[in-house]
Amino acid sequence: MNAYVLVCSKTRKSVLVDPGAEPDALEKLLLKTEPMAIILTHTHSDHMGALTEMRKRLKVPLMAHPGPHTDMMNLKVNRWLDHGARVKVGKQTITIYHTPGHTTDQICLVDEKHHLAVVGDTIFDGGPGRTRSVEGFQITLKTLRDIILTWSDQTICYPGHGPSFCLGDKRKAIEAFLNKDHGSFFGDATWDM
Ligand SMILES: [Zn+2]
Ligand SMILES: [Zn+2]
Repeated sequence: MNAYVLVCSKTRKSVLVDPGAEPDALEKLLLKTEPMAIILTHTHSDHMGALTEMRKRLKVPLMAHPGPHTDMMNLKVNRWLDHGARVKVGKQTITIYHTPGHTTDQICLVDEKHHLAVVGDTIFDGGPGRTRSVEGFQITLKTLRDIILTWSDQTICYPGHGPSFCLGDKRKAIEAFLNKDHGSFFGDATWDM
């Protein structure tokens, strides 16, 4: 899975997104930056495997979207990120989009000025994130239509697994996907199904 570090090039302040594993490698990514926070795109265990260790090492606030998982795991989140929340990283601003479907607490971190989006498991190069119920899949369709497709074509999406991609290159495939009747489907979907 992909962890990310977002760094303000002017102030070197940074945030760590999804500390899934390998704390030493994550610490290396953060070298010569001043970590401000750890942010979770969602609460699946593969995205938080090194969370406890990285909190111990960095001693910075943990930020995540509220939801049943975060309560259940007693994560001691320091700041809840609701839809529309803004996180300052030095001179840069990250806007939070709530993008449920894959999980109820899934968020995307968008730097509108630089046209980049850390999307967690909301969307991948090949399709939307896996859903575990018909309802979850229907919510994914709504998220794609109402949120993802409103972003600009030049947005580069950085997903939780696999390669990054340009949203404009996927727009036609996502629209075609939304125009199809998927019945009572849920699970692993691909844009061309
Ligand atoms: Zn996930
Ligand atoms: Zn994942």
